[in-house]
Amino acid sequence: MRDATRVVHAGLPPAVDGEPLLPGPAFAAPFHQRGEVEGAPWHGYGRDGNPTWALYEAALGDLEDASAVLFPSGMAALAAVVLPLLGPGDVLVAPSDAYPLIRSIGRDHLEPRGVDVRLVPTREDAIRDALAGATLVCVETPSNPLLDVVDLRALAADVHAAGALLAVDNTVATPLGQRPLDLGADIVVTSLTKSMTGHHDVLLGAVTTRDTARAAAFRGWRTTAGTIPGTFEAWLAHRSLPTLDVRLERSCANALAVAGALATRSDVPLVRYPGLAGDPSHAVAAAQMTRFGAVLGFDAGSEERARAFLDAAELVIEATSFGGVHTTAERRARWGSDAVAPGYIRFSAGLEATDDLVADVMGALDRAG
Ligand SMILES: *Cc1c(COP(=O)(O)O)cnc(C)c1O
Repeated sequence: MRDATRVVHAGLPPAVDGEPLLPGPAFAAPFHQRGEVEGAPWHGYGRDGNPTWALYEAALGDLEDASAVLFPSGMAALAAVVLPLLGPGDVLVAPSDAYPLIRSIGRDHLEPRGVDVRLVPTREDAIRDALAGATLVCVETPSNPLLDVVDLRALAADVHAAGALLAVDNTVATPLGQRPLDLGADIVVTSLTKSMTGHHDVLLGAVTTRDTARAAAFRGWRTTAGTIPGTFEAWLAHRSLPTLDVRLERSCANALAVAGALATRSDVPLVRYPGLAGDPSHAVAAAQMTRFGAVLGFDAGSEERARAFLDAAELVIEATSFGGVHTTAERRARWGSDAVAPGYIRFSAGLEATDDLVADVMGALDRAG
């Protein structure tokens, strides 16, 4: 079945007369649980499991033909992958130019316990050069904020030849844009806070894998570390899933239209969008992605002009994060955590009408001087 159909039905339980199509959130700390607990098929305590999580996890698993484990944020999901796996003498290869908090985990929590953390840019040659003795390789593709794309099939082969595992942060693409497990990755991490939920109102994350023992280990970490998702958030996320395909349809079309319009301007020195023919990532992206995501980046020329653009645009809400129904953008260097030009804007296309959005962006750049 096609993705558009899958997302509508994913995770729905069998129909029961008089019951809602998607059961409401099951708010419970303990559940009724009598007698012996060994092998009981039901939920006993809310930190171990919850029927609302289970339905949404079934939906996420369906999208990737994998087991999905839900976490309260993308960072909780990422931490569940790297913290239990890596100890003294292990080697983590992680991006130097992608989501910044993986570098913080490395510096604050892995290096102090004797893990060799190798930070490399999101390029196959740079990653390959760092593979000797690696335990785990994390890659983010498309990367954020610079939108580089790596060839996952080739990278997975190299990582496995080096005896390591490959974890892919698939947040920008979503499983409807790219299926890293099909391309050879062992683990996928997704911040569901972004396009997957898409309404700027929920933080959640997930880890997916086709290795059931590994999935059980992620679940075990969640139970013992207590990094559990909220029931209502899980329900809201499931409620947002049926619109994922139509939301991506519009936001990806808008991203491409905005990137294309920006690329015609001589006052915009850099535009990055993997879907744009001519982008350095386009060829690899076109070979492994079915949608290119809602996020693009461009250099407005200077810090002042980037600020003036954000002030002048009416449909572009200045906010961090991405993948929501409203178009959002920010001058990425304001955080001080990314090596980007002072005028570089990370731009997340929302669901506005394409010509309105392009006109607003072009007009705001004209007014920004
Ligand atoms: C936002 C984001 C994260 C972290 O997710 P949270 O849900 O904010 O914890 C990780 N990776 C990428 C690529 C992200 O964009």
